[in-house]
Amino acid sequence: MTIIIFFIFGLIIGSFLNVLAYRISIAETILGRSFCPKCKKQISWYDNVPLLSFILLRAKCRNCKKKISWQYPLMELFTAAIFAGIGAKFFDAGVAVSWIETGYYLTMASALIVIFIYDWLYMEIPGIVLWPAIFAAVGFNLWLDWNGVSDLGEFGNVLSLGWLGMLGLKTPSGVLAAAAAFTFFFSLSAMSREKWMGMGDAYLAILLGLILGWPQILLALFLAFAIGAIYGIILISLKKKKMKSQIPFAPFLIAGTLIAIFFHQPIISWYLGLFIV
Ligand SMILES: [Zn+2]
Repeated sequence: MTIIIFFIFGLIIGSFLNVLAYRISIAETILGRSFCPKCKKQISWYDNVPLLSFILLRAKCRNCKKKISWQYPLMELFTAAIFAGIGAKFFDAGVAVSWIETGYYLTMASALIVIFIYDWLYMEIPGIVLWPAIFAAVGFNLWLDWNGVSDLGEFGNVLSLGWLGMLGLKTPSGVLAAAAAFTFFFSLSAMSREKWMGMGDAYLAILLGLILGWPQILLALFLAFAIGAIYGIILISLKKKKMKSQIPFAPFLIAGTLIAIFFHQPIISWYLGLFIV
């Protein structure tokens, strides 16, 4: 039952995130009624039901009959699946801290999904979403530290870093992961003068490191490059892109991060299992 509630909640938020990405791009107000991006006519509430309206309207605007992008239902479903996963993994109605933890992951997932859509459409990372999310992630890490809740979820682990530890200072492993991931993408971006990787990806890496912690960030980066490479090969073989054309990278980083959040344990044990025969 909990999962279904999270799923439906995800459909609704997903529908909002689609609109949010679009409105940020045209610097519109975030609130206010939805309208068709093509004919600009306001969409009535009954045509604005996540997923259902898309099917009932057969992917066409009621007014101008222009096609509604598949992006809308797909991202709604994607958000719903992620929300259901977060509900299943982190939420336990009887445990107070799990409410905070669940809220944190839902917020982070929402921010990542908007960045995913935005980078996919406009090849740019929206700072207006990224920086508040980084701020919130730092806050959550500090909260973990202050409360000494090292067992709160598997990413809540606090890592004492050598001499910092000796001074009695603890550094959340998220900071280490963020610094490492940022340095890596910053170097790629600087070396290639933003041809291989944009500076936006380096800033995004800070957020991903904070969310995942060390060493889970390594798995996320590995997955991102693997998924990106497969996607690139498919596009090139379908002759949709040339070797040199640019593909936005944030969607792959975000996909890798989401997979790492949910599956890093089975993936790592599977990988380690390869060496024990
Ligand atoms: Zn229309």
